[in-house]
Amino acid sequence: MIKSAVITGASRGIGRACAVELARAGFDILVNYRESDAAAEETKKLCEAQGAKCVTFRADVKDENEVRRMIAYAECELGGVGVLVNNAGVGESGLFTDMTREKYDRVFDTNVWGAAVCAREAAKVMIRDGGGKIVNVSSMWGVVGASCEALYSASKAALIGLTKALAKELAPSHITVNCVAPGVIDTDMNACYGAETMAALKNETPLGRIGTPEDVARAVAFLCSDAADFITGDVMNVNGGFVI
Ligand code: NAD
Repeated sequence: MIKSAVITGASRGIGRACAVELARAGFDILVNYRESDAAAEETKKLCEAQGAKCVTFRADVKDENEVRRMIAYAECELGGVGVLVNNAGVGESGLFTDMTREKYDRVFDTNVWGAAVCAREAAKVMIRDGGGKIVNVSSMWGVVGASCEALYSASKAALIGLTKALAKELAPSHITVNCVAPGVIDTDMNACYGAETMAALKNETPLGRIGTPEDVARAVAFLCSDAADFITGDVMNVNGGFVI
């Protein structure tokens, strides 16, 4: 397998930690991002400090033309796509009775369609090159559902379904497809929660702490390693025991 990895939404949070961890594991890295050039450059520097070649590419994963250009750029600059980490995602909380078509489209277009399009374009390259690994970043709420996060939970459950179906379809092409399902992780996505809510979530976590982006990144890196060659279609919980 080619030692190059495309990580979506890698300018901060879990995506950045995945990029750095995979760089440490010897992968060359494409840092996908949507908004901040400066934040993407910071991730690039962190990857280069691990000795990796690293390039950045601004693309909205919802836009298939931009995704096509991103994968072509990875082929050109890194020689192919050995690993794809579908990390880009958006949250949505609120009462289900306030759901709108706009909210639905934003969440599903990013969390499901975006991941599917990235997987489709990366898979074409992986099939040609004889194999690869795809890891999707779902959520424990996709496994058990969260009150007041119905759309988000449904989108992350869809990502688990996509993972399992693709694992079957792509296995004959020597491509593994797995999922991580993080619990509560300390990133900007949870910045909307106050200290009291975070303390309550910590108390509810059997291991007694909030997770870090690195906790998730290490699980992702394992699923991208040779040690995970016979694992496909799996949903790996990284949640401190919150959901078992
Ligand atoms: P985050 O908000 O810091 O990171 C999400 C990243 O995705 C951002 O960099 C954002 O710019 C990028 N992104 C969003 N839409 C995009 C698009 N259309 N195209 C390209 N990039 C896009 O939050 P995070 O916690 O690091 O989230 C990373 C992933 O982990 C998400 O899929 C999230 O659902 C999942 N997750 C997070 C937690 C948590 O507690 N933080 C728990 C479970 C799962």
